[in-house]
Amino acid sequence: MLESSNNMQDKIADIKNTYLKKIKQASSLKELDEHFLALFGKKGAVTKLPKEFSKLSKDQLQLVSPLFNGVKFELEKAISNKRLTIRETGYSLLERESLDLSSPVEIKKRQGALNPLTEFENHIVQVFSKLGFQQYDAPQIDTDINNFQVLNIPENHPARDLQDTFYIDSTNFGIEPGRILMRTHTSNSQIRIMTEYPAPVRFMNIGRCFRNESTDARHEHTFDQFELVYIDKGLSLANLLYLSEYFLKAVFGPEIKARLRPKYYPFVEPGAGVDGLCIFCSGKGCNICGGVGWLELGGAGMIHPNVLRAGGINPNEYSGIAWGCSPERMTMLKQGISDMRQLRNGDLRLFESLGSSVKV
Ligand SMILES: [Zn+2]
Repeated sequence: MLESSNNMQDKIADIKNTYLKKIKQASSLKELDEHFLALFGKKGAVTKLPKEFSKLSKDQLQLVSPLFNGVKFELEKAISNKRLTIRETGYSLLERESLDLSSPVEIKKRQGALNPLTEFENHIVQVFSKLGFQQYDAPQIDTDINNFQVLNIPENHPARDLQDTFYIDSTNFGIEPGRILMRTHTSNSQIRIMTEYPAPVRFMNIGRCFRNESTDARHEHTFDQFELVYIDKGLSLANLLYLSEYFLKAVFGPEIKARLRPKYYPFVEPGAGVDGLCIFCSGKGCNICGGVGWLELGGAGMIHPNVLRAGGINPNEYSGIAWGCSPERMTMLKQGISDMRQLRNGDLRLFESLGSSVKV
């Protein structure tokens, strides 16, 4: 059924009159935002109306279209003019306000403390600095190449399914989709380290990573990783085991023992899960270690020859160790925190109850 163009003109005039009045009466930016949404939002009056134009004949449309566009423009202009007026009024009120800077102010005595996660990270940075490891910072937004391809994870490799990835919409920059991402691990530092510094190198990288995971007590979409990249001549699994024990003793005390267990990571060969003797039951078996007496505390391996080659390093001359752990998991174990989300939710009560040792 065709709608009469008079009817449509009435609707347009109605929107115009109602909203011009509302805009005129608005006294805050918030109110204006509400009117803007009511007009131009997803379900706004101006957004929705053109859907009804299909009911008009071609001649009617020629009449209604310019009218509609004119009103749309008029309403936009009215809102932006009113925004300016409200801002100007706000500024002039501020100008007239006077502050007495000499009046005494009582400052609340409150002492802050470092988040236990930060405390832990500072600690391991110190621990590995003693072995000559320097800190390296890689970007949190990176290319698919640096995050996956040079790490022996080509496109369509099944290992990509293990790391659900947040991709950045890069079409606005003229880059095809799926090329720019939020890094899923700190290993995006490896190619940079290898191409920027000549071997031998000892670097540590600590920083934020992102995965498209649903969150629960043990998973977060935003988390930290700690990673070592150690490249030299003649490195072997013996060095890797030494680093693992050195690390675990520094964190959990001299009693702890480390063991390596075969584990698959595409960027190392061989790969190892790093286990520590359960700190809660000393290996006897308890609820926390699931009765096995060991806790998985890190992941490591000898850097894959393909990764070394991608970084311009000859795998026949040099070998490398990549070693990493989850600072969140370590902090939770050390401090007896059961829910990972507590570390970042900003609720200070947890930290007060822990009595963080570093006051700031
Ligand atoms: Zn145990």
